[in-house]
Amino acid sequence: MGSPSRVAAVPALLRRLNVRRVIEALQRHGPCTRAQLTRLTRISPPTMSKLVAILVREGIVERGRKPVPTRGRPGILFHLAKKKAHVVGVVVDIHETTIVAAGLDGQPLSGRQVVVPTPHDVDQLVAAIVPHIRHQRRSARSELRYIGLTVPGLIDRATGRVVFSPNLHFLDGVNLGERLKKELGTPVATFQEEHALCLAAQRFGDAKNLTDFVLLDVSAGFGMGVVSAGRFITGSTGFAGEIGHIRVQLEGRPCGCGNRGCLETVATDYALARAASERAGRPLTIAQVAEEVRQGRLALDGILEDVLEYLALAVSIVVNIFNPQAVLLHGGLFEIEDNIVSRIVERARRMTMRPSLEVCQVLRTSANKPAGAIAGALERVWAELGPVLQ
Ligand SMILES: [Zn+2]
Repeated sequence: MGSPSRVAAVPALLRRLNVRRVIEALQRHGPCTRAQLTRLTRISPPTMSKLVAILVREGIVERGRKPVPTRGRPGILFHLAKKKAHVVGVVVDIHETTIVAAGLDGQPLSGRQVVVPTPHDVDQLVAAIVPHIRHQRRSARSELRYIGLTVPGLIDRATGRVVFSPNLHFLDGVNLGERLKKELGTPVATFQEEHALCLAAQRFGDAKNLTDFVLLDVSAGFGMGVVSAGRFITGSTGFAGEIGHIRVQLEGRPCGCGNRGCLETVATDYALARAASERAGRPLTIAQVAEEVRQGRLALDGILEDVLEYLALAVSIVVNIFNPQAVLLHGGLFEIEDNIVSRIVERARRMTMRPSLEVCQVLRTSANKPAGAIAGALERVWAELGPVLQ
């Protein structure tokens, strides 16, 4: 197993810091020769040779087959493991649960993604997830290092317990990660959904070069993740970011949190799909709404504007408070028309401090929840190997 003691043949902190620097470089730049890694990390060539040897021995890094021509003698390309080790991401959402396996380079292993309906019962949920991970572990024929689990709602940062899930109350007080660990014998890290999405955007997506950004996820509930000065804001216990449960309509609809008129009830995929379903006279998912609109069978006049107005309010709030370089938007409603984001920005302009909005990009993120769960699992694998100097 990938316990720290195996890498800790040389347990010095400096060695661990250097190990982490090599991993960060490979994650950021892709396959590299030893010479390239030396240049990128400023670690001396003899030390680099030792570090790469350790990482190869540990199954964290693999060597490419063919030498590539470089200045001087041909170099071997090294990359994060794809064959010897993998991680699994589990995304529990309101209706569906996704299980995906990926190499340590974060790339999903082909054919290793499964989507099952989310049973609203803890034992059934565990029973729905575990066989797929066992099957994946057998067929990948590599070591499963970590499982990254995301669950909507408030997660206790210290224990991974679900404290309160407004849309999946059967998980309130449950430590799903512990249950999965007990069944599978693999360590499990539980992340708040938006934290995982931010990690995915930082590792694989639009936020690679950003130190300050806000991610607004309206795909199920209304979630927010904030990275400020390079750090994800957790609050004292990990509950920070619940903008979705701020009341914006005094006499609004009941919300899963127990209050009324929360932003979540008016500015999400769900809110738009609900209003569109009422107009169409039949239940529609957000994907079906988008399709109906594209086919010209459904008009959203009035309905869409209301949702965009509240989304603009959310953008204006986060821009005024956090002064981010970017606001990244995640949700299905952005599929409905190409210009949804610019319509939100236009509205936000009327209610936001102008200098703050001028320095902020608002865009759709390419990050998705399975990539978030994978990024969370990898974060823990790397953390066991060595810390990062901030
Ligand atoms: Zn609420």
